[in-house]
Amino acid sequence: METYPKSTHRAGAATVSMLRGTDADVLSVVGPNPGFTGEEKDGVLLAPLTHENAALLRKLFPFTAPRPILESIRTVGVGDRLGIATPGHLRVFEAYDAVPVLAQQSIRELNLTGRTYADVLDCVTFAVFREDFQKGFGADGDHLKTDEEVEYALSNGYTMITLDCSEQIRNDVTGMTNEQVDAAYASDGDLEALYCNKTFAVEDQAVTFGEQEFRRACLIYSAALDHAVHIYETHIKGKPVDFEISIDETMTPTTPAQHYFVASELIRRGVRFATVAPRFCGEFQKGIDYIGDLRQFEAEMRVHAAIARKFGYKLSIHSGSDKFSVFPIIGRLTRGNFHVKTAGTNWLEAMRVIAMVAPSLYREVHAFALTVFHEATKYYHVTTDLNKIPGLQTLTDAQLPGLFEQNDARQLIHITYGLILNAKDANGAYRFRDRLYRCWRENDALYYDRLEAHIGRHLAQLYSEIPK
Ligand SMILES: [Zn+2]
Repeated sequence: METYPKSTHRAGAATVSMLRGTDADVLSVVGPNPGFTGEEKDGVLLAPLTHENAALLRKLFPFTAPRPILESIRTVGVGDRLGIATPGHLRVFEAYDAVPVLAQQSIRELNLTGRTYADVLDCVTFAVFREDFQKGFGADGDHLKTDEEVEYALSNGYTMITLDCSEQIRNDVTGMTNEQVDAAYASDGDLEALYCNKTFAVEDQAVTFGEQEFRRACLIYSAALDHAVHIYETHIKGKPVDFEISIDETMTPTTPAQHYFVASELIRRGVRFATVAPRFCGEFQKGIDYIGDLRQFEAEMRVHAAIARKFGYKLSIHSGSDKFSVFPIIGRLTRGNFHVKTAGTNWLEAMRVIAMVAPSLYREVHAFALTVFHEATKYYHVTTDLNKIPGLQTLTDAQLPGLFEQNDARQLIHITYGLILNAKDANGAYRFRDRLYRCWRENDALYYDRLEAHIGRHLAQLYSEIPK
């Protein structure tokens, strides 16, 4: 078996490396075994890539364990739904100074892919060890909503918690008339004294709370703020954990005044957090570029970025996959101080690889995706028009990868990943999963090239207008 060239490390008197097997990789341990579980063969211990062996690796080689990283000036989260993308991602982060969050999954993604937090982190640990990536990385329990979910991520060693407050955010307030707002609002003298009819200078911008704006902010966010305070006090306080407040998965964009209100209140109530993810104007749909008014985005981003600087945290931009037209604006207005999350674009690149090297398998998966697309829209908001996707029978094999240049086809594949990976035949065997993984393993070099180019393009755009 071939040794991965960067994988050889010393642990005391032992030498630990990773070998490439046909079906699965394996650790090799030469010398006194520091505790790996495996089988001895010709004086070499061969240790499979199990959870126990990953845990020992994290102990022996601390660079393979996650740590809090959001204090770094630039950070980028790249989820890996399949557990095979990290070596490709690492090439990008060797080239840029941004520190990555390499393990980053929501509970929704875990459920849709049939994975666990332990498995997601273990895959990253093995890849970081194999590639000798020493810059450090984070592990994000993304979009967690409840005490149980937060504890689940923390108990698996995750170093970042993204608290999703969407269930506590009142979406009905935006549609209320002023009279309805006044009727629903319960007077709070302390808050009124702090915000109502006040203007706050934020660098060269101003944030003003008229009575209506103030009352609406209270109504929309007060339960979300209580929830964030509760989660912080119960699970986060005093621990070396990056804490992100996400208010992005709501129906209506976060106005700059609302962002100010949320940040200011969190700080006043003693919550220490590293990032806030507002919902920006326009649409950040999965797997395609920004949809919306770039000028309005820029004008609002200017205030959002200034608010974050005033209070001393970073803006977090979610659903960052493929948002090429807004990346230069984000880099410039945050002055290069940002957290950007991408999640599913590496899945799309994996499927592009299938279209390139296994056209008949791709055709099967694509045809299946069309039949389950409607079901997948329960989990993801997209405006896909399936009629715009060229019929498979009209395309030659060589034209299949071109589908990944077409937004509707991208979204079709993007949001159906869970249904594709979990589809089973009448005998209970996976319809696609095993064949897909085998194909990705056989073509991993191509996959890493694709990721390096595609995620690299994200970073190049984010860095393109950072002021010197
Ligand atoms: Zn989000």
